[in-house]
Amino acid sequence: MQTQTDIQSILSEEHLDCNRDVWCQRLQAVTADQVRRELSNPVGKFSLDRLVTLLSPAAEAFLETMAQQAHALTIQRFGRTIQLYVPLYVSNVCINSCQYCGYNKETRIERTRLTIEQAVSDAAVIAGEGFRHLLLVSGEDTQFVSPDYLCELASKLKEKFSSLSIEIYAMSQDEYAQLFNAGIDGVTLYQETYDRAIYADYHIAGPKADYNSRLDAPDRFASAGMRRIGLGFLLGLTDWQIETLALAEHASYLVKKYWRSQISFSFPRICPATNVQSEWPHLVSDTNMVQMMLALRLCFADAGIVLSTRETPKFRDNLIDLCVTRLSAGSKTNPGGYASEKAAAEQFEVADRRSPEEVARVIQSHGYEAVWKDWDVSFNKWT
Ligand code: SF4
Repeated sequence: MQTQTDIQSILSEEHLDCNRDVWCQRLQAVTADQVRRELSNPVGKFSLDRLVTLLSPAAEAFLETMAQQAHALTIQRFGRTIQLYVPLYVSNVCINSCQYCGYNKETRIERTRLTIEQAVSDAAVIAGEGFRHLLLVSGEDTQFVSPDYLCELASKLKEKFSSLSIEIYAMSQDEYAQLFNAGIDGVTLYQETYDRAIYADYHIAGPKADYNSRLDAPDRFASAGMRRIGLGFLLGLTDWQIETLALAEHASYLVKKYWRSQISFSFPRICPATNVQSEWPHLVSDTNMVQMMLALRLCFADAGIVLSTRETPKFRDNLIDLCVTRLSAGSKTNPGGYASEKAAAEQFEVADRRSPEEVARVIQSHGYEAVWKDWDVSFNKWT
C-alpha cells in the first residue's frame, strides 16, 4: 500500500526515476492471457499492474480491442466533441540548454520577443479564426515574459478568449496564483523525462536542470488553483513504456490531491529542429504511440488526450475516432507568426499545416462537433 505523500518519494519508491530495469523485465513477462484478462475488467481505473499489462509488447496484438474500449469510454465521458485550441508563441528567447530544442540558448537563431501590443495583434488574428481557447507559449525568458507581462497580456486577452493557458517555464506557487487571479486557468508543463540520469544528460544548464523543481511544479500550480493540469514527457529520449508508467503515477497522485482540476496528457514526439541533433535513440512508432494513448485512456477515464500539429494530418484524423479530446490547429510555432509575414525561427516543424477550418471540417466529417469555446469557463475566477 502506498504511504508516501509526495511525487518524488512515490517515483523513487517505485523505481520509476532511476534503476528502472525491473520494469523492462515486467513488461516483457506479460502474456497474452494476462492482457485478455485485463481487458475483461471494468475500464477507466488506474493501477500500475493494469498499465504495465496494457503497455506490454504482448498487448500490441490487442490494439483493436483496446481501441474499441477507449472509443466507447471517450464518447461516454466527453460526448462526440473535440476541443480546438491554438498556441501563441510570445518569445523564443531561452536561458536553458535543453539538447533537443532549437530554442536552447546555444543555438544561433534569430530571437524574437513580442511586445504586449504585438502579442495582442497575433491573438486578434487567432480570435478571428474562431478560437476561444488560447495557449501562451514561451522559452524560459524570465527577464521579458515575467508574471507581470503575462498578467497584463491576460487582462487584454480575456475578453476575446474564454480560456487562457500557459506552456512556459516553471514558476513559484505565488507567481502561479498571480496568473490565476489574472485569468489564466491552465498550465501545461512536461517533465521531458522522468529518468533522473537521462534528465541530467539533456538539461545541462539553466534553471530547468533542476529535476526536482520541475517535478514539483504541477503541485505548485495546482495548489495555486489552476483548473487544467497538462502533463507529458518528450517521446524519444528514453523507453516510452517506462516513461508512461511514471507519467501515470504522477497523474494519479495529482488527481487524488487536486480533484477539482482536470488532468490532460500530451504526446510530444521529438521533431526536427534547427541546430540540434537529428538522430534519436528511442523514437516512438505510430503503433506504440497509439498503444500509449489507448492504455492511458483505459486507466484515466476523465483525462483530456491532446494531440498537436507536430503529428501528420493522417495520424491525427485517425485518432479522432479513438480517444483524442483536444486538437491544436493552424499552429505557428514562431513568435509573431500569425500577424506578420516575417519568419522568426520555429521551435519545431509543424507536420499538419491545414487551416483551422479544414481541421474543423474533418472533425465534423467524423461525426464529431468541433468545440471552439470552453464549456467550463464559468468555474474560473476572473478578476
Ligand atoms: S525546451 Fe523550453 S526550456 Fe528547453 S530550450 Fe526549449 S524553450 Fe528553452
